[in-house]
Amino acid sequence: NYLSGLRRLEPQLNSFIAVDVEHALSQAAAIDNQLAKGEEIGPLAGVVMGIKDNLCTQGLQTTAGSKELRGYVPPYDATAVARLRAAGAVVVGKTNMDEFGMGSSCENSGFQPTFNPWDTDRVPGGSSGGSAAAVAANQCIAALGSDTGGSIRQPASFCGVVGVKPTYGRVSRNGLVAYASSLDCVGPIAQTVADAAAVLSVIAGPDSADATCSQRPSEDFTEGLVPLEQLSSKPLAGRRLAVIQETSGEGVAEALAAAIKHLQELGAEVSLTCFGVGLPAYYVIALSEASSNLSRYDGVRYGQRAEADELRSMYGKTRHNGLGSEVARRILMGTYALSAGYYDAYYKRAQQASSQKGGALWYSCGEMPRPLVRTLVQREMGSALQQYDALLCPAAPTAAYRVGEKTSDPLAMYKGDLMTVNLNLAGLPAVCLPCGFAEQPSGGTLPVGMQMIGRAFGEGDLLQLAHIFE
Ligand code: GLN
Repeated sequence: NYLSGLRRLEPQLNSFIAVDVEHALSQAAAIDNQLAKGEEIGPLAGVVMGIKDNLCTQGLQTTAGSKELRGYVPPYDATAVARLRAAGAVVVGKTNMDEFGMGSSCENSGFQPTFNPWDTDRVPGGSSGGSAAAVAANQCIAALGSDTGGSIRQPASFCGVVGVKPTYGRVSRNGLVAYASSLDCVGPIAQTVADAAAVLSVIAGPDSADATCSQRPSEDFTEGLVPLEQLSSKPLAGRRLAVIQETSGEGVAEALAAAIKHLQELGAEVSLTCFGVGLPAYYVIALSEASSNLSRYDGVRYGQRAEADELRSMYGKTRHNGLGSEVARRILMGTYALSAGYYDAYYKRAQQASSQKGGALWYSCGEMPRPLVRTLVQREMGSALQQYDALLCPAAPTAAYRVGEKTSDPLAMYKGDLMTVNLNLAGLPAVCLPCGFAEQPSGGTLPVGMQMIGRAFGEGDLLQLAHIFE
């Protein structure tokens, strides 16, 4: 049923880079078999899922949206994918994305743009745009995405679905194609908060294959979700929520304000001045880490190799043929920020060690140097979260924009990440969920997503709040 729906919609949406029909059918048959024999089935048995193409899938090509990785078939599953399979999920295919996670509209995919199911002239957001579009169009029940600077939350917002960016280290990064390792998080995109909670419960938890993965055991995040009929008349009584002043976006303010009216006991506003400094710091740190991470794509170890007479020109031709222009731009900027003479002015300023301990960011390897701008962001958000149970803001300044609208202006594209990147710098979790619709001046109505930002490792509480709001 899902495969036929998927195929029918695929020509209009392009959500998937690869669909694994044979494997999906055999996995579904295996679950039928288990049921017939009366065997115990996993918590996600038969749940049809899409996997963002930057998560390794054993025996199924994994490209991270890049031509450079065409033909790369991983010999292993990413930890999150292996856990889904063990829980009985049916992996139906790999979803489209901006190349290596670099983008906010899915237009930087090396293969195809994905279109928004609400209006196919518009982008689905990015970089996990394929996952969000597939879930919104019911091509699959849920999907995995990754979030380095908003890539789960912003596409969830543009496509009117639920996205969860877990606390840094909550879900293993083993088998995730690295973009910026100190910011990358794996998380679910789903149609409801309860579905997202079910997926997160399966994929979270310690993993010896990722040293930055927290030792905290996973929880059953669905347990605390009170069924709607059992909710009291004032389910948010005693909860303290605050809206982040700096983030009321032009295109989405009305929808957000109307949604917030429904939240009882609200009225608080916090001012987080760090929102202004977070965006440039994010782009310095993410691009610096990316320039280092992407040096492995040299034509020797993975994917494509260009023909050439000698080594240097092989490197050059391979990269020229395989990497898109946005990826090249980012490698150049990251390399520049890390160069001798510029390092102190750019990278160190964004990421400088501070003697202060504490903050929300958690590292399993004990004391790590705390960065300067990052520390500011962590402290400010951390102290606001001591007063409030959750902070609210839109996931993006606008609803989904038109295909091609921002492709010639990278800076305009980067600015769209204003509301999401701070959390990645601070390592905090957030749930993005639909909160209403915004009428577009150009016609039509589009979904708007609201972020609920919570305390480090407070996903359980956050999902409960989101479920009540939903
Ligand atoms: N849009 C942001 C970027 O291009 C975030 C991407 C992501 O979270 N992978 O860096």
